[in-house]
Amino acid sequence: MPVYDYICLDCHKSFEKVLTLTEHDEPVTCPRCGSKHVEQEPAEFFAVTSRKS
Ligand SMILES: [Zn+2]
Repeated sequence: MPVYDYICLDCHKSFEKVLTLTEHDEPVTCPRCGSKHVEQEPAEFFAVTSRKS
């Protein structure tokens, strides 16, 4: 199963989430603060700090 990296835009916690086909349609929430303001981080940009806004 694919593992996706996310970062919370509210508390800036990064976390991984394994998504099945059914879970992929559901909103991703931050495990720390519960915010839905999360952004998916492509793995290849793992060490890059700059991002488009
Ligand atoms: Zn958060």
